[in-house]
Amino acid sequence: MIIELGDFFSSQKSSFPLDLCFSPEDGADATGMIPAEMKIKENGIILKGEIRSVGDYLSLSSTVTVKYRAVCDRCLAPFEAETSFGFERQIVASQKKAVQREDGEEEEPLAVEEGKIDVTEPLSEAIALEAPTVYLCREECPGLCPTCGKMRDDPTCKCSEKKEIDPRFEILKKLLDNSSEV
Ligand SMILES: [Zn+2]
Ligand SMILES: [Zn+2]
Repeated sequence: MIIELGDFFSSQKSSFPLDLCFSPEDGADATGMIPAEMKIKENGIILKGEIRSVGDYLSLSSTVTVKYRAVCDRCLAPFEAETSFGFERQIVASQKKAVQREDGEEEEPLAVEEGKIDVTEPLSEAIALEAPTVYLCREECPGLCPTCGKMRDDPTCKCSEKKEIDPRFEILKKLLDNSSEV
């Protein structure tokens, strides 16, 4: 995942818009950092933002959206989703030591080499950090009924109703069911 800076340097402007998209094969997969559950789609890593010159360095400020497929942890259904997060880094001419961020965290600046920035490692790391810890097809997914295997909110699943019946009344219920069929 490479950001080309040639146009930025030749434009002589103080800021340069970025609108890029990458596929997992462009490097993210190879880092081994992306969680196995998160199947990133073709061109599914979208980076929008800008590079700006700030004093004697450059700064990258962007929003990254990751579109992916996953399998719901509760109902096992495949689904598609996306997650977005801010991706901001200083850019330096060569690999300098980590810089102190405002929140106190140390952060590696991005290094320009031959007019390009390779964001494969830092961006894959950021995706891994922002990846969900639980994959759900929808927030309120009720999951599967362990008895019949249908969704718990499926109206045809009556398993929990049955469970509520005291086993001692089970025989009575059967009798009632039989009588109502007659
Ligand atoms: Zn689900
Ligand atoms: Zn059920």
